[in-house]
Amino acid sequence: MNFSEICFGLRNPESSDFVNVNGYFVDKEILEDYDKLTKLLERDGFRLQLESAYRNFERQLSIWNRKASGQLKLLDAAGNPMECPEDEEQLMYAILTWSALPGASRHHLGTDLDVVDGKACPEGYEVQLTPAECDGMFLSFHQHLSELIDGGESFGFSRVFVPGRGKIQPEKWHIAHLPTSRKYLENFSLEGLRRIYEKTEIACKSALLDNLESLARDYIYPYFI
Ligand SMILES: [Zn+2]
Repeated sequence: MNFSEICFGLRNPESSDFVNVNGYFVDKEILEDYDKLTKLLERDGFRLQLESAYRNFERQLSIWNRKASGQLKLLDAAGNPMECPEDEEQLMYAILTWSALPGASRHHLGTDLDVVDGKACPEGYEVQLTPAECDGMFLSFHQHLSELIDGGESFGFSRVFVPGRGKIQPEKWHIAHLPTSRKYLENFSLEGLRRIYEKTEIACKSALLDNLESLARDYIYPYFI
């Protein structure tokens, strides 16, 4: 598998590239630093808990198509359910408010994780991954994580979806192992992504193909950090 295909989420999670961490597949190259971060947070009273890691192309495509067909709820920027727009381009941008472009999700890399503090979760609580949780039950966890990142003590992990960078909503819970993801993203090919869309049954296909350059400028390249 070449690095360009890695970017599109075409790796088999069962391959030797991945390790299973509590039911989530992560690229084995980040495991050592992940363990170090886990131990450091544990020392400081937190429990790093994964909520998502590797997601392949098919999974992201399924989310995309189900949102377009109304099988999955479409949410506006404030997080409220909204009607499916009739216009294909409007529908595409509505999905993009909360879902990544299939083939260009950072979760395809296996280096990016959605995390919370397991210790702060009330018994039986189902994590939603919302800004409200970050400012509520996970506030001190995220403050501490910010200190580690700012102080260069986070073993290569950093936040990616922060305010002022591209058009994706900020996601405090999403962290990436930058040294490994950079290595893969150097080989990302927008033309390769175009070819995949052309031969895939993907909702809003013509809007995606017509707007691919501007989509990349707003939703893909700002997060190649
Ligand atoms: Zn994420």
